[in-house]
Amino acid sequence: MAKKQFKAESKRLLGLMINSIYTNNEIFLRELISNASDALDKRYYLSLTSQTDKVNKKDLTIEIIRNEVERTLTIKDTGIGMTKEEMENNLGTIARSGSADFKDQLEKATNKIDIIGQFGVGFYSAFMVAKKVTVISRHANEDSAHEWVSSGEDGYTIRDIDNQPIGTTIILELKDDTKEENYSKYLQEYTIRELVQKYSDYVRYPINMEVEKSIPDPTEEGKSILTKEIETLNSMIPLWKKNKNKIKKEDYDEFYKSKFSDWKEPQKVLHYSVEGNLAYTALLFIPSEVPYNFYNTNYESGIQLYSKGVFILDNAKELLPERYRFIKGLVDSDDISLNISREILQQDRQVKALANSLSKKIHNALVEMLENEREEYEKFFHNFGVNLKYDIYKSYGTSASDLQDLLLFYVNKDGKYETLKEYVANMKEEQKDIYYACGSTVEEIEQLPALSKLKEKGYEILYLTDAVDEFMLTMMNQYDGKPFRSVTKGDLDLENEEEKKEREKKTEKNKDLLEAMKEALKDHVKEVRISSRLTDDPVCIVAEEGMSLEMERILSNDPMNPGVKASKILEINPNHEIFTTLQKKYKENPSSINDYAQVLYDLALLIQGLPIDNPVEYAKKITNLMVEASK
Ligand code: ADP
Repeated sequence: MAKKQFKAESKRLLGLMINSIYTNNEIFLRELISNASDALDKRYYLSLTSQTDKVNKKDLTIEIIRNEVERTLTIKDTGIGMTKEEMENNLGTIARSGSADFKDQLEKATNKIDIIGQFGVGFYSAFMVAKKVTVISRHANEDSAHEWVSSGEDGYTIRDIDNQPIGTTIILELKDDTKEENYSKYLQEYTIRELVQKYSDYVRYPINMEVEKSIPDPTEEGKSILTKEIETLNSMIPLWKKNKNKIKKEDYDEFYKSKFSDWKEPQKVLHYSVEGNLAYTALLFIPSEVPYNFYNTNYESGIQLYSKGVFILDNAKELLPERYRFIKGLVDSDDISLNISREILQQDRQVKALANSLSKKIHNALVEMLENEREEYEKFFHNFGVNLKYDIYKSYGTSASDLQDLLLFYVNKDGKYETLKEYVANMKEEQKDIYYACGSTVEEIEQLPALSKLKEKGYEILYLTDAVDEFMLTMMNQYDGKPFRSVTKGDLDLENEEEKKEREKKTEKNKDLLEAMKEALKDHVKEVRISSRLTDDPVCIVAEEGMSLEMERILSNDPMNPGVKASKILEINPNHEIFTTLQKKYKENPSSINDYAQVLYDLALLIQGLPIDNPVEYAKKITNLMVEASK
């Protein structure tokens, strides 16, 4: 019989498959089963819409036959089958919708093997594991069947063959085992069962296989015998397609744990279906703990994508915006092509629409959780809120309108977490700004001297302990028309006219002292001034408008930003006894003010949890002052 040649691209692809040592070659089974499932869909549809081939739904099956002696694996379906022409066209060329893209990618790719995993390469993937492939097929509308045989690149043969049932049988003669690859595993019951459960569990037709079962021996008590029986390997109904009311919490928990390899049950389950132009079902989970490798660069975010119950892709990041990268789960849509690849995923219109819809649903679910399950939401935010914050920062504040009402902040009063909305509702009548303070911990912030006047006035203060917090607020700039204001930056504008005049008078009177202190600290501060924000503490350090002390601390830890400095101001509490002492010392001996200035500056840094330049020098000066004081 004359050999027919494959079309050029098909030949190249085939060559690739044959020589592939692609580690994920197990996907061949998924591909063949999914083709069979499509063929069954088509036959069922034909049977519903025409008179010629009436078929019973229960006769639509996929059968897997292992033959260890012949080393063959057979996948047999009772689907629509192929005519001779269809065999020529479908199996002789790359007949897939995504084929053009595949070919493009293949041209460009340096590591061609990677491409295989990214594309569902369909029928040809059989050549990853088989040295010879035989396809016997009879179309539902035809009486005769045909047999297509190929051992690879050198072409294929087609011949007529009698007495075949409607449907397609694909016989894979497995490659010989090599050092790198064990192909014999595909003859084992265990492997096939695993693969079907992994990739094709939710195919809506039974995938049957003869399996060995041990049953009690009827002739001898206590003994068992091995028998063979046909078992359906797939569950056929995906959990997400089941009626929500029939699903128990444990079902979700078990499904989540086994599918997304987590030890703990999820904190939240989101299960819904959308009808319309883009119909899909989503089953999404919020983990109850931050995955151990969540912040590693190799963490794979993204959800699983199914099309018509057939698994297509794992970790489809394109389906979730970065801010929701903590979500695990899957989405199943009838409107997404089974041939979608990772590469096309980014541009596909349907995928974009799907991602949008998912994003909205997740957002709504979070809003609802915040409103109705406050405690749960706080737990969630504690785990994953930082993702929302980064999103606002990275979007230069443009995503703030979406996300700002989902943020929670620790607030000084009662040590509670508040939303910005709640903060604004609690603002005092005369209060214009939203105040915040930064530090490594709540305890550290609590001790900041600069907070005292605000606390006295009964103002709430947001305590920011995440590195991203202040950067985020800087990007947001304001909430509900109220500017964010750092308690350790610039002028807080807390005085009434009278208090302001009073301070200006004091400043004028002590001009020389303040000038002398500034001179003593000229390497460290831009200004020494009388404070309006202190009540009990002697001094504090604040930054000018612009970079804050906290930003300096964070950025200076980054080797990319050596020597970034906030512009600092030392503020003195005019009502503290230290001020009287300074005035006195300056009068007695102006040059003695140098040491006082140095010590107070370091002291202010220490109180605020900031490092001092020279601890030894600081200790020496303190000792000197103590000795002098006792004279
Ligand atoms: P795809 O399934 O992505 O179109 P394949 O290379 O897997 O690409 O298959 C090519 C074509 O061959 C299919 O579109 C289908 O028309 C036909 N085909 C493959 N397997 C079967 C089968 N089991 N029954 C009927 N037709 C099949």
